[in-house]
Amino acid sequence: MKVKAQKTPMKRSGVPRNSINVWSVQCGNCLKWRTIPTQEEYEEIRRKFVEDPFVCSKKSNTSCNDPADMEYDNSRVWVVDKPNLPKTPPGFHRGLVLRKDFSKLDCYYITPNGRKLRAGTEVASFLKENPEYKDLTTSDFSFSVPKVMLDTIPRDVANVEAKVESSGGSK
Ligand SMILES: [Zn+2]
Repeated sequence: MKVKAQKTPMKRSGVPRNSINVWSVQCGNCLKWRTIPTQEEYEEIRRKFVEDPFVCSKKSNTSCNDPADMEYDNSRVWVVDKPNLPKTPPGFHRGLVLRKDFSKLDCYYITPNGRKLRAGTEVASFLKENPEYKDLTTSDFSFSVPKVMLDTIPRDVANVEAKVESSGGSK
């Protein structure tokens, strides 16, 4: 059972083209996908997903009898999270950006004072330099990135990859 987030590289104004703009979780009972309105709520579900699996009734006014909020298909690019990642500490923002070639996501945190941290080592030095965050440790941060689901990436990109693969063969 996996927690999943999915992203759509939509060209909607104000939304970065390659960032995640929809969060959803699969019900452990009926297997329907439920959208979760905010990243904060999504991260709370993800934080304890193994011990406390998601079911439809945890979403307000929702039951397993309701139609799915969305389907897993290639109308958008889906990326699959790992369960039980730490919830982003208050005041920090965790961002994920999909590379233009759809190969992988990159994770970063923005600190309350606007610094961008791209790795655990940067978090460690930030916490050291900023004693006001002494309640936090590096384990409150995770740079673990979701897996890009290859069957949902746009066909033209998939074709490019297929070509690269076949030309890399023995011919
Ligand atoms: Zn359900």
